[in-house]
Amino acid sequence: MDKFKNLMRILLIEDEPKTVQSLKLSLEENGFEVDIAYDGDLGSTLARKNVYDVIISDIILPHKNGYEIVKELRNLGSVTPIILLTALSSLDEKLRGFDAGADDYLVKPFELKELMARIKVVTRRTNGVQISYKKMQFEDLELNLDSKTVIRGGKQIILTAREFGLLECLMKNQGRVMSKEELLDKVWNMDSDVTTNVVEVFMNLLRRKIDKDYPQKLIYTIYGMGYVMKIN
Ligand code: CA
Repeated sequence: MDKFKNLMRILLIEDEPKTVQSLKLSLEENGFEVDIAYDGDLGSTLARKNVYDVIISDIILPHKNGYEIVKELRNLGSVTPIILLTALSSLDEKLRGFDAGADDYLVKPFELKELMARIKVVTRRTNGVQISYKKMQFEDLELNLDSKTVIRGGKQIILTAREFGLLECLMKNQGRVMSKEELLDKVWNMDSDVTTNVVEVFMNLLRRKIDKDYPQKLIYTIYGMGYVMKIN
């Protein structure tokens, strides 16, 4: 749990004192700072007033239920990850939670380990989104990671999923020479049937779309080493 050492802040909205006490203690032992709200009204107020890394909320609460809290926060534009806790385990309940805008859902009783794993996943997800991942720019080339669109010099370029993956990878590493093996590993993941020749093929396709019609080239071959995104 090293990742949590730099104090993450959690809001726990739960009306059952026993659950609150044990969860608070366990979360604090894992390096979280925990605020508690024993009812939905207070929970929602705290969530709007403070910045949290994660909100963990029960569904059935006094004054305002978990769904309402999630909906309210999402309507206000909050992207804070929210995990709903509940004793109800029907699919309908689950869908209702996701529909309201919850990131995850945990059925009581659960193991602390499971909650920690979920926290890890939902916080990683939003960190990725919030930190400049949505849009990347290099010179006149713009990548939108949400809509998966590419624009160069104001003109949209249509890429396949692999081409987009390659471009994204080069762009995240601009100025750094990436070997074919590294690109293969990052863009094709574990697919062992694929060889580095495939990287070459896709790189050619990509360059035809990104660079061919433009005087300023953005992708360069460094012979014997790999590829790099840069300007000369
Ligand atoms: Ca409850």
